[in-house]
Amino acid sequence: MHLLIIEDEEKTLTALRQGFGEAGYDVSTARRGDEGLVLARSKTHDLVILDIMLPHRDGWEILAELRRTGARVPVICLTARDSVEDRVRGLELGADDYVVKPFAFAELLARVRTALRRGAGPNGTVVHVADLEVDFLRQRASRRGRPLDLTGREFALLGLLVRRRGEPLERREIAAQVWGMPRDSDSNAIDVAIRRLRGKVDEPFERPLIHTVRGIGYVLDERP
Ligand code: CA
Repeated sequence: MHLLIIEDEEKTLTALRQGFGEAGYDVSTARRGDEGLVLARSKTHDLVILDIMLPHRDGWEILAELRRTGARVPVICLTARDSVEDRVRGLELGADDYVVKPFAFAELLARVRTALRRGAGPNGTVVHVADLEVDFLRQRASRRGRPLDLTGREFALLGLLVRRRGEPLERREIAAQVWGMPRDSDSNAIDVAIRRLRGKVDEPFERPLIHTVRGIGYVLDERP
């Protein structure tokens, strides 16, 4: 497996190159956005780890350009920013996952493995789970062809569950990914948000897709 890491911070780049090298990956690197884009377009990488704040071209531009030209390579964004707007923007542009800095290497490694297992979505922007359709580009979701009326945050939450479908997500993980909250924060808000989301995504339909995983959190999957 060949990774491309686009990151301008020397210390982070060195640590990632070494970590992924030791984990058995081939690693290419770029420190400038424009150079990173050229490499990312070469279609020789199985996954791109993309910092957002970069010199010459930022991560948003690179991601947008890749998706605009039809590149489906999985992209994991590294970002110090953790506002909901940024997450939604990233999902909209076709990022596969996010890791907020500072992060533990083990966490990024786990995300990389998951993204590689999952591969790109059917066309990179629209994902189906049973009769649920999520269009990340247009930021719309529907079930059985019926549009779901979701707020931006509800869409971000559903998007996270869909992208990581089949994988039980801890409440603190959901809090960090969707709200940018510290991981030890109160998880009650997550339960409330999930309840509201279920009211729109599951309750009007026969078959629930969002399931509670006791002692852990939530998972979205298609169960018989
Ligand atoms: Ca940077």
